[in-house]
Amino acid sequence: MPDTQKFNFPLFRQVMTMVRPYKRTFYFTALLTLILAPLAILRPKLLQIMVDDYVFQGDVHGMTLLACAILGALLLEVLMRYFFLYYADWIGQATIRDLRVRVFRHVTGLHLNYFDKTPIGQSTTRTINDIEAINTIFSEGSITILADLMTLTAVLFIMFYTSWKLTLVVLVVFPLLIWGSYKFKESVRKSYEKVRNHIATMNAFLQERITGMRIVQIFNAEAREAEKFRQINRDYTSANLRSILAYAIFFPVVDIISALSLGLMVWYGARGVLSEEVTVGVLVAFPLYISMLYRPIRMLADKFNTLQMGLIAAERVFKLLETEERIQNTGDYAPERLKGKVEFDDVRFSYSGDLEGDPILRGVSFTIRPGETLAIVGSTGSGKTTIISLLSRFYDVQEGRVLIDDRDQRDYDVFALRRRIAVVLQDVFLFSGTVLENITLRDADISEAEVIEAAKMIGAHRFIEKLPGGYHYQVRERGATLSMGQRQLISFVRALVFNPDILILDEATSSIDPESEAVIQHAIETLIAKRTSIIIAHRLSTIRHANNVMVLDKGKVVEFGSHDTLLEIEDGKYRELYEKQFVQVSNEWRP
Ligand code: ATP
Ligand code: MG
Repeated sequence: MPDTQKFNFPLFRQVMTMVRPYKRTFYFTALLTLILAPLAILRPKLLQIMVDDYVFQGDVHGMTLLACAILGALLLEVLMRYFFLYYADWIGQATIRDLRVRVFRHVTGLHLNYFDKTPIGQSTTRTINDIEAINTIFSEGSITILADLMTLTAVLFIMFYTSWKLTLVVLVVFPLLIWGSYKFKESVRKSYEKVRNHIATMNAFLQERITGMRIVQIFNAEAREAEKFRQINRDYTSANLRSILAYAIFFPVVDIISALSLGLMVWYGARGVLSEEVTVGVLVAFPLYISMLYRPIRMLADKFNTLQMGLIAAERVFKLLETEERIQNTGDYAPERLKGKVEFDDVRFSYSGDLEGDPILRGVSFTIRPGETLAIVGSTGSGKTTIISLLSRFYDVQEGRVLIDDRDQRDYDVFALRRRIAVVLQDVFLFSGTVLENITLRDADISEAEVIEAAKMIGAHRFIEKLPGGYHYQVRERGATLSMGQRQLISFVRALVFNPDILILDEATSSIDPESEAVIQHAIETLIAKRTSIIIAHRLSTIRHANNVMVLDKGKVVEFGSHDTLLEIEDGKYRELYEKQFVQVSNEWRP
């Protein structure tokens, strides 16, 4: 829990450094506060002069002149205030716009480890809600607080200057106000914190249920989930109500105090007029001063809270920006093309980074010659996907080496290496956008004609063409409106247009009907032709096509060789897998 009691000056300074590109606007706005404060007290002062020097003297011409001056002051103030409000907010918006991009870039460059342990909701909250809160530092926090303080000082100054006795009378109730403001600020701060926590809980809850709606509905869990939601919602509402209560008490209290102070002033001022100590003009101007004094005070307590909340959000965002979990991109070898030799040399790996416990890969070694295809088989959880994650350098190995074209993977520039490797994942992920965009991932170098050609080669063209809008068909979130097989084919086209030197394919586990089987098989053969390929295979036809088969068991290579040679091993693991998985399945299909 961040400390919300003290004002964190270094953090505030850090936030302010983000304004640097907009220095000139910032200084302009700060200058406006300097002009606005005296301008605000000008009108009551002019009014006082008008009453004392002209109204009572019956000087109509002078009165008109002064009325014009008051009107002029008013217009000038309105204009200045417009610029002030607009630019104070403009600075905030410009700053958070930059910050959002910075955070997004930072997050997309982070190591997969970070995403393994950070809930998605947290990353989105940082980039959206928290940054929105930072905006208030500018729109309501820093400059406007400064402006209020300036006005306050100017008003107090002119009041004392006009009549120090009357001012003291007005200020008698001031300690009460200070105390009330403090109480209010504390109470709102506490409920604000609660509101923020509840909002986070509610967001997370909603996000999960909506993503997993199928599960909720199929298991008839709607009523239970609704009950849970009602609970969360109730907590959230009561936290909100608590802060509303604070406002509902504080604002009228301030009004009462200000009325009290006005009453005192009138009582004392009237006596002063009688004893000719106070002029009538002063008595007219003072109520205006009083209202100018109380309005900012009422706002200040609130604004200070907002500033504090903005700073807490800023602290979180800065912390995210300081996370330096990324792949060490220290290599600079960046060949145009790879020959495609892949070698794992006694690789040991654990996701936690700790090899002592129970490592996922326990000394894996194998070699694939350029252009060859390796099929990896093994039971679930044996480490197949892990191997391909290492090859794409999503994670770094802890011991051993991964060699590509006889060079350590870490000698390569990560981006150059990934450009030559394409991966088709087990569960295909599609973004909202057109089919075309999903295939090219907005790479402008890939033309629509190339995409169509690739789709024809893969055998996906026929179905894409039939979609409403064809290649411009809008894929909804995660491609829910397409079938699994269709999504798979799209991801195949995606891999093919990038024309990689090394192709990695994590075959979907779900079994498919013989007709689609033929389509998929044709697609895979197209993909792996003329390039080094590693396939985590679940289908016999893929395995048969591979030059070698590697059998993985609990993070170790137990068998390696061609399909036929492995089948010949008596009591072999591959033979066992083969008999369990494929013979039965094929019998079911062809009774
Ligand atoms: P399947 O056939 O089910 O896809 P697999 O052979 O691909 O299995 P892997 O995904 O490589 O299995 O997982 C191997 C082990 O690593 C599993 O025990 C799993 O719990 C663990 N694991 C996988 N991904 C992560 C991760 N991101 N963080 C921590 N542990 C992980
Ligand atoms: Mg897997």
